[in-house]
This record gives sequence, C-alpha cells and structure tokens, in this order.
Amino acid sequence: MSMNTQGRPTGVEGVETQPGQFESFSGHVGLRLAEPLIFELGSTDTTGVDVPEVEDFDMCLGGLERKSEIGCPGLSEPDTVRHYTRLSRRNYGIDMGVFPLGSCTMKHNPRLNEKMARLPGFGDIHPLQPQSTVQGALGLIDELATWLMTLTGMPAVAMSPKAGAHGELCGVMAIRAALEARGDAREIVLCPESAHGTNPATAAFCGYKVKSIPAKENGRVDIEALKAALDDTVAAVMITNPNTCGLFETEIREIADEIHKAGAFFYADGANFNAIVGKARPGDLGVDAMHINLHKTFSTPHGGGGPGSGPVVFSDALKDFAPVPYVVKDAEGFHLVENKEGKSFGRMVAFHGQMGMYVRALSYMLSHGSDGLKQASEDAVLNANYVLASLKDVMTPSFDGPCMHEALFDDRFLKDTGVTTLDFAKAMIDEGYHPMTMYFPLVVHGAMLIEPTESESKANMDQFIRSMRGLAAAAKAGEVARFEGAPYHAPWKRLDETQAARKPVLRWEAGE
Ligand SMILES: *Cc1c(COP(=O)(O)O)cnc(C)c1O
Repeated sequence: MSMNTQGRPTGVEGVETQPGQFESFSGHVGLRLAEPLIFELGSTDTTGVDVPEVEDFDMCLGGLERKSEIGCPGLSEPDTVRHYTRLSRRNYGIDMGVFPLGSCTMKHNPRLNEKMARLPGFGDIHPLQPQSTVQGALGLIDELATWLMTLTGMPAVAMSPKAGAHGELCGVMAIRAALEARGDAREIVLCPESAHGTNPATAAFCGYKVKSIPAKENGRVDIEALKAALDDTVAAVMITNPNTCGLFETEIREIADEIHKAGAFFYADGANFNAIVGKARPGDLGVDAMHINLHKTFSTPHGGGGPGSGPVVFSDALKDFAPVPYVVKDAEGFHLVENKEGKSFGRMVAFHGQMGMYVRALSYMLSHGSDGLKQASEDAVLNANYVLASLKDVMTPSFDGPCMHEALFDDRFLKDTGVTTLDFAKAMIDEGYHPMTMYFPLVVHGAMLIEPTESESKANMDQFIRSMRGLAAAAKAGEVARFEGAPYHAPWKRLDETQAARKPVLRWEAGE
C-alpha cells in the first residue's frame, strides 16, 4: 500500500478487497476507481485551459509578487469532473438513504426549494446592492420572520445568526445586555446534563460559569434540583425541548415560572423544534429566547459543515436587545436597520444572514402550509415511535416511551457481548446505513440516538429496522468478528477520529 506525504494510504493500491476475494489487477474494485488526492493526480505543467502567454508588463506590487509556481494541480476538465464525481460517490447523504443521526434532523430537501433559491432575483444579488433594488429579497426575509414569529408565538426575531450555535450566542448576548441594562451582574448559566455541547460552550464563551442540572429517572430535568440551584447569581437557564433524549419536558411551564421568579432568563435550544411545529408554541411555554435551526426544521441541505441558519426569536423582555440588522417596512417599502439603535447589543455578521437558507425555508413553509407543517411534526414523531416500538425487544430503550422525534437506546443490550456502541455503529455501515448518533447524550451509557424524521416511508423504516434487528441478534449470538473489524465494505476502515479532530492535517505538502 502506498502512502501519500500525509501518511494516508492512497493510489490504486489503497483499495482493499474483501477477505477471500481476488485482488483486482488494477486495484480498482466493483466499478469504483481508486482515488488519489487531486494534487497527486494533476501536475503543474498540465492545464484544462489554454491561456496566452502574458506579455511583459510592469509589476506594481512593490516586490510582493509571486516568484515561484503557484503549485495548484492542473487537470483537464474531464479529469477534474471525474475526480470530484468519484469522491462524491463515496459520500453518504440524505439523497441516498435513511440518515438516522439523532439531534440533527436530516430530512429530505424538496427540489422546489433549490429551484427557488436559484432564481436570479435571489441567487444573483449582492448584499451591498442598493436596498431599492432588492425589495423582493427584503420582503422575503420579512415574510419568513413573520412565519417564525407566528409558529413560535414570539414577538420578535433576529434573522442574521448563521447556525444554531451562533443563535445561542445571539440569545445569550441579548440576555447579558438585558441584565447589564438593569445593572445586574449575574455570573452563572444552568444547563441540564443532557444538553448539547454548544449550550455550555456558548455560556462559557459569553463569560458565564456553567453549572449542570441533573436529570430525573425519567430523563427530564430534575425541577427540585433546578429550584435549589436558582438564585440571584443565575443569569439564564438553557433547556432543549423536546430534550436530547427525545422527550418532552412536561414540567416546562413550571420550570419557566421558577426561572422568572429568580429573575433569570429562559433560553430554549430550539434544535428539536421539528417535533412540535404546529403543536406547541415556545412563546406559550415561557421562553425568552430560542434559536431555530432553519437547516434542521425547515429543510436546507446541511452536514459536512454546509450552510446553516439560526434565527433567534425573542420575548417582550428581550426584544429590545436584539442585534441589527433587521428589516422594517414603511410607506416607501422595506428597509434594513443597519446601525445599532437603542438597547440593541450590536451586530453579529457582516451582512444580513444566509439568504439562500431563507429562500429554502420559506419555500418549504409555503409548500407545506400550516397544516402540512403540523403534519410533518406528527409524522416525524410517529416514525420515531415506530422505530422505538420495533426495536425495544432487541435493543434497550433508555426511557419509557412514547418518545418525541427521536428514539434513544443505550448499550445494555450489548452487555457481555464484547461489542460496543462504536462497533455496532460501524457494522451499520456494512449494512448500507449511516450510523445513528452515538455516545450522545451523555446521560446514558453508550447512547444510540435515532431520528428518522418524517421523510422516511414505512417500507424504508422496515428495511432499516430489519438490519438493526439482524445486528442486535448477531451481537447477542457472539458474532464478534462481524463487529470488531467493521466496516468491512467501506473504502476506508476505522479512522483515528480523535487524532483527526485534535491534529487535523489540512494542508497538502509536496513530497519528494
Ligand atoms: C444541532 C444542535 C445544535 C447546534 O446547531 P448548529 O446549527 O449545528 O450550530 C444545538 N443544540 C442541539 C440540541 C442541536 O441538535
């Protein structure tokens, strides 16, 4: 096997055949060509375009001009297209099959949204264009804002945050601004044990100390522990509802009242809004600020770091502190309020937010209608409960059902089998499925969190469930080899993910 200069196996020999199979002569297997890095494929003296030699001209860069080759690989157009197409075939995406990642809401992205987002009037405009020339786009932002306020029952929304975590930052900055405005220097933010990592990270980033609130046996926030921790040093409580165990926090109204009695603010993490759209409004639950992951709840392709959008809705208590810019309408049309006015805490982004995501989200809403959005939530919850009910005799659900949009299992069913949650997830790859979310939330041991979303038909889920039941049975029957080397059928086997996260090699460097 040849190694590239980063120590990664590459080249034609990098493709491994299955045990017991013949090695192919070429190193390619099953209509899959081995794929080196583009730097290894192309050379600097090849190019897909002919550009005339540049005639002598005077450099005006004051000695800063490049002295050597730029070092980019030159490839012909067909070679370039093939390289990226081959890479794309190694990817797993929502357009390929069930994508059961819990806490991610990987749903189908209707093609209509894509068509709308590419309309030249939306796709080809520039954020610095005069506002009089982009009235339609501003009108769209305003209409989407109205939908978001209506669906959440909240009086204000900041559209600009660019993802869920960015929305959390927006919400906590507004909370801090509100506390500072009343001269109240509180220093603690409370988060439940099951919180998504971004919640404590956001609080810490804003300078707060984070304290953890334990969960009860039934997977919900322990309200007595919360009450005991609430005092005049607590700035905010951040709670996800439905929570990351896939459970609705049934005491949410009482929790909100306790938070407000202590003079603190209630930040709701709205990443799981998909489960309750059209059924419950966060405004009625006593929420002060909540981000909405447009890229989870209202479609939009996401993953792999792809674009997100995290508008934040605000209660009356916080709305004056919301960031700029925002859209207002008067007799002459739509305007952007660009500069900090009044109590607004300022600006979070250079321009107005993720226009493409706004178009997709509004297309999604308009094509579903309010009844369709409600049905999407109902179907998402129904599908998750179908998974829970169909697997509960062979896997171990962490809490009694019914669940909301996702089904949480732990690794008790793997006890004494020698198979871990990680092994189980890797074996799912051999079965053709992207693994579910694993080892999150942290409140249960060896968590496996499955969120089918409303996109899946019963037939798709039955197929998925059969594979999961097969794997559970194999683990219990002691077929450890099936798991410990898994995935056998993927181009790459087990990667050192810790090393990849801690010491990512992001630059290619020319070897010998
Ligand atoms: C996805 C998620 C977030 C973070 O949202 P991003 O858009 O990925 O930044 C926060 N909390 C929960 C519960 C989530 O599922």
